[in-house]
This record gives sequence, structure tokens and C-alpha cells, in this order.
Amino acid sequence: MTQLLSNFLGGRWQAGNGGGTPLFDPTLGTELVRVDATGLDLAAGFAFAREQGRAALQRLTYRERASMLAAAVKLLQANRDAYYDIATANSGTVKNDSAVDIDGGIFTLGNYTKLGESLGDRRFLLDGEMTRLGKEDLFQSQHVLTPTRGIALFINAFNFPSWGLWEKAAPALLSGVPVIVKPATTTAWLTQRMVRDVVEAGIFPPGALSVVCGSSAGLMDALQPFDMVSFTGSAETAAVIRSHPAVTQRSVRVNIEADSVNSALLLPGEAAGSAAFDLLTREVVREMTVKSGQKCTAIRRVFVPEALYGPVAEAIAARLAKTVVGNPRNETVRMGALVNRAQLASVREGLAHLQTQAELLHDGRAHALVDADPAVACCVGPTLLGARDADNADRIHDLEVFGPVATLMPYRHSAGDIAHALALVRRGQGSLVASLYGSDPAALAATALELADSHGRVHVISPDVAQLHTGHGNVMPQSLHGGPGRAGGGEELGGIRALNFYHRRSAVQASTAVLAAL
Ligand code: NAP
Repeated sequence: MTQLLSNFLGGRWQAGNGGGTPLFDPTLGTELVRVDATGLDLAAGFAFAREQGRAALQRLTYRERASMLAAAVKLLQANRDAYYDIATANSGTVKNDSAVDIDGGIFTLGNYTKLGESLGDRRFLLDGEMTRLGKEDLFQSQHVLTPTRGIALFINAFNFPSWGLWEKAAPALLSGVPVIVKPATTTAWLTQRMVRDVVEAGIFPPGALSVVCGSSAGLMDALQPFDMVSFTGSAETAAVIRSHPAVTQRSVRVNIEADSVNSALLLPGEAAGSAAFDLLTREVVREMTVKSGQKCTAIRRVFVPEALYGPVAEAIAARLAKTVVGNPRNETVRMGALVNRAQLASVREGLAHLQTQAELLHDGRAHALVDADPAVACCVGPTLLGARDADNADRIHDLEVFGPVATLMPYRHSAGDIAHALALVRRGQGSLVASLYGSDPAALAATALELADSHGRVHVISPDVAQLHTGHGNVMPQSLHGGPGRAGGGEELGGIRALNFYHRRSAVQASTAVLAAL
């Protein structure tokens, strides 16, 4: 029997009393550890966090809480090697891909440490200026943001067991709000290990950080009116969360990050082989292959002017052909495994669905696996599809295949009019990110504004930032993460803005003297 990972809830380590669900190595097929949450007293554990953890955190100032985040950063950095080992085994990722999750998480935590320090020794935030309510200056209104009296439940996706924890926990803990994380079962090990390390180091007060690994049963039921839930995962589970009585009847605040059919768009006027052309093809390949395409922000649809459909297809296919796929422990391998057999089956099924409306421009099956048994390993080569009739390719605009798959599509344009391209991008019905490639600043700026309403982030790449840009799919803590419409309608990160979710806004109406004493 493999080790059964414990849950940390109610200020103590507690094992589930069921048999446990095994976690596997997606490359080798071996069982690694088990998780189980059966029999936990969730109501008592949530109450402990809400009462003890919250009170202890909220006694502190932003600066004091920031120093705890800084201690967590130091500890996590010291244990990086162990986290990389877990990621290789449980997520099947190569070193560079594990870094996106592990170092990306630690970097985000570090960023909020600095933001917290800048907020100083206070326990609430002012929102805007005092506003006069009557004829006289004496009676005014001042909006304040105070930390909520609840807990934050994070229900996370399998693809970012580290970053998914810390990008949410950093603003929550900095706000003084206790965190209970429920990682996706498939990759729960890394989340559990990081929480274990931080808990054992005694960095945060008891009840500030808890982890429940295993079934999600009962978690939503344990939420109370001032709690919040931040969910990342599929649109189907998001619908279950949204319709739960905790949200519909108890007004639990909810943030949803769901699937997204993100786009990359090459503007007209860029020749084959030009700098903007190369930047697009390089980024598409990077986005398709990093974490085997298992990134919610990955490029799924690529739009290019009609005349460039052939040249772009060739350039992307040539780069993809060089991708070495297989066992992430082999130094020559650039792309490891998908996370499990279910995802492998889902990617194959999704590909077949898209292919009814697309041609094959680069076939992932042409990639022989290195050091991996195709009968066991959850590895697939990257596949580029092409849909020449983009208007009639509804499946391509609707289905997110969560793997190394993207579809190239041409758009019509005349004299700088790219209405057709914009309409096609919008067929995604709201996405996390769109990236634009071109060299004309005015055209890029105008297009960015056109797409801003339906995207949480517009990433604009021109030759002058070729060496500087942070990448289409990389979520930076300084910028907003989330998207409208089918992307879930959520908002995370964006620097200090992320703290809003964990605070309550209230208008204090009082005399100027009272407001000055706040
Ligand atoms: P999922 O199946 O929806 O699972 C997400 C989480 O919800 C897991 O922790 C899961 O637990 C839990 N869960 C399942 N059923 C639940 C229920 N009835 N009540 C409460 N929680 C429940 O999604 P996934 O397959 O892990 O993740 C892949 C998807 O996430 C992709 O579509 C991707 O686009 C999206 N994603 C979005 C973002 C973003 O930031 N927008 C980031 C990453 C991924 P178990 O694992 O125990 O079932």
C-alpha cells in the first residue's frame, strides 16, 4: 500500500477513514500516494478556520502578514528540489514546465509580499475619497474595505497544484482571510506537501492555512454567508458550484475561472518571415507545448490573413516537428505527459471532434515517444489543425481540447479592416487572453481596445518587445487573470486589485472629524 496523505483541518493533521484514492505517475503508470477526506468533520474544521484563524490573522497589519508571506517564500524556495521531484512523478512535467507551476507560484507569493509591505501598518483600506453628502462639507461618505469575516475555500484544477494554490492564497492571507484549499485529486500531492511544509514551519497562525485532499463532497455545504469560494476547473463543475445553495441562498461570494478558447491574431501587413510573423509562430509553438498544452491560457485558435495561411502552417509545423516527447526524466525530452489516462482519452476524443471540421497540418502521432511505453505513458505529440472555412468551424470555436492542440484559421481583410478577424476571435464567447502580433503601434492599440471587452488580458507583441514580453500564456501577478463569458467571469491577481475579493466594501457616513479618525 502506498502512503496515505493526511489532511490539515481544524488545526491538526487528520487522515480520512476510507481506503483512499491513488495518485499515479502518468509516464510510468505506477501508484505514488493516496488521498482521502472521508469522515472529516468539515463544519468543525471550517468553524475553526473562521474563528481562530481569521481572528489571529486579522489582529495583524498588512505589513505583518506580508512578513509571513516572505517567510513562506523563503521556506518554499529552500524545498524546491522536493517539489520538482513530486511534479516530475505526479504531473509528468519536464523541468521547465514544473518551473512554471512551482517557481511561478513562489514568484507570485513574493510579489504579494512586496505589495503587502507597501500597504504598511494598517488593518483596512480606503476606497476612493471622502464625498460630501449634503450642502455642507461636514457630513460626508468614505468607502472603506475591511477584511471579510469568513474563510476562502479554493477548489483547484489539476494543472497548477502549486501556482493555483499560491496565486489565490497570497492575496487572501495578505487580506487576513484564512484559506482552505481542496486541490484536484489527480495532482493533490504537491499542494499537500507545500501546505505541510508551511504548516510545520509554524509560519501562519493555527487555522490560517488548511488542506483537504480527496473528494469534494460536503465542502460547499460547509460554507456560510461571509465565506467565499474561488473555483478553477471545468465549465461543468463551475455550473454545479454556481447553483449550490451556498451561493444561491447564502450569498457566498464566488469567483470562477473556467475553460477558455484563447486566440492569437497576426495583423495584416506582415510578410512571411517578418519579425511579427516569427514572433507569432514561435509563441504558438511555445503555448502548444508548455505543460503539454494543459494551461487554461494556452493558444487554441490562431488567426492569420488568408494569404499567410500556408506559410504560417509550414513555419509552425516545422518548429513542432522538433519537439521531443516522452519521459520527463530524459534530458532530451521537451514535452512530458498529460496528467492521466482520462485526460489522454479526452484529448484524443476532442481532437477527433475538431478534425471533422479541420485538416491535419502537423500530426502529433508522428512523434515517437522517448523512454516511454506508449501503452502506459499518457504522452501525445503536438497536433496543429487547420480550418480554412473559419466561419463554419463552430466546433473549433467552442471546444477547448486541454492538450497540445491548436487550430490555424485564415481571415479576410481589406485596407486595414479586420472586422472578420475580430468576429472570429469573439466566437470564443469571452476568453482569458488574446495575443496580437504586428509592427504598427496604432493598429495594435486599436485592436487591443476592440478585444478588451471580451478578454481578461490582451497580450500585444511587437518586434520592440521581442526579448522582453512575458509570454501569451504566462500569468503575471501584476496583471489581471480571468475572463468574461465562458471563461467564467472571474477576476484574480492584477496586483492590489486581488485584495478586493477578500474585503467587504462599506460606506461610512459621518462627520468629517469622525472620518478623519478612521
Ligand atoms: P474539474 O474536473 O472541473 O475539477 C476542478 C476541481 O473541482 C477539482 O478540485 C475537483 O475535485 C473539483 N470538483 C469536481 N466536482 C466537484 C463538485 N461537484 N463540487 C465541488 N468541487 C468539485 O476540472 P479539471 O479537469 O481539474 O481542470 C481542467 C479544467 O480547468 C480545464 O477546462 C481548464 O481550462 C480549467 N482551468 C482554468 C484555469 C483558469 O485559471 N481559468 C486554470 C487551470 C485550469 P476532484 O479532482 O477531486 O474531482
